[in-house]
Amino acid sequence: MVIFYFKIMDAFQKAAKLIAESRHIVAFTGAGISAESGIPTFRDPGGIWDQFDPDEVGTTGGLIATLSQRPEVIRDFLLKTVEIFEQAKPNPGHIGLKELEDLGLLKVVITQNIDNLHQEAGSSNVIEVHGNLFRARCLSCGRKQQLNKKELLARTRKILEEDPRPAPQKLLEILPHCPYCQSYTRPDVVMFGEPVQQLPEAFQAASSCDLMLVLGTSGVVYPAAALPYQAYENKAKIIEINPTDNYYSSITDVYLSETAAKAMPKLVDLVKDLL
Ligand SMILES: [Zn+2]
Repeated sequence: MVIFYFKIMDAFQKAAKLIAESRHIVAFTGAGISAESGIPTFRDPGGIWDQFDPDEVGTTGGLIATLSQRPEVIRDFLLKTVEIFEQAKPNPGHIGLKELEDLGLLKVVITQNIDNLHQEAGSSNVIEVHGNLFRARCLSCGRKQQLNKKELLARTRKILEEDPRPAPQKLLEILPHCPYCQSYTRPDVVMFGEPVQQLPEAFQAASSCDLMLVLGTSGVVYPAAALPYQAYENKAKIIEINPTDNYYSSITDVYLSETAAKAMPKLVDLVKDLL
C-alpha cells in the first residue's frame, strides 16, 4: 500500500515536472472531464444512448422524422437535457486547465465536449470539434450566434412544461431565428454522420504543442482521437489523465489513473512549486 502510494506520487511529480518545463501546452479533453460536472457520457452504460435511441434523436434525419411523428420523444429528450445542463458547473478539472493558462503554460484547449464548461471556467482559447450546444447555426446562411445559456435553458423548460405533446412548430421556435436572414436555426453541434468542426485548427494546435494533456477521453471517436498521435509525432510529451484506462499507452510519457477533477488541483499545486 505504501509502495503503491509512492508510485502514484512519483507519477504526479514526473507529470508536474514535464508541465513546468513546457512552454506551449495543449489540452485535449473528452466526456470524462464533463462527467464530473454531472453530464452523463453518451456511449457508456447508463449514458444518454441507453435512455434514448440515437437513430431517433442523434441524427438530423432522425430528429426531423421523430419531431413530426413522435414529438413527445423529442420533448422528453430535451427536458432531460435541460435538467442536466441547469445543474452542470465547471469542476476542478476545468478550473485546473484555466490555472495552467494563467501560469502562461497552456495555450489551447481542444475539446470533444459541447457543454461550454471550459469557457465557463475561463479558458480563453477553446477549439470545439463537436460544436457547442449553446450556439445556434442558421439553416439557410450558416452563420452562427452564441446564445445566453441561462435564458435558453429557461425558455426551453417553459415551452416543454406548457405542453406535454408540443407541436413540432413549437419546438422549432425554441432557438432564435437567424439575426441576419431570419431563417430557422439549429444547435451548432455535430450529430452522427456530420463532419467534425475546426479540425484544421485542432491538428495545427496538436502539431505545435510541446506537451499534450489528454483528459477523460477514451480515444475511440475519430478523427479527433488521432490528435494525441499527431502531437507525439511532432515530439510533444504526452500526459494522460483517465481513471478508466491508459488508452494512449503506446505514446504516453506519464499516465495518471485519476479523474481530471482530482488530478488537476494536485498537479497545479506541484507545478507552482516548481516554477
Ligand atoms: Zn441566416
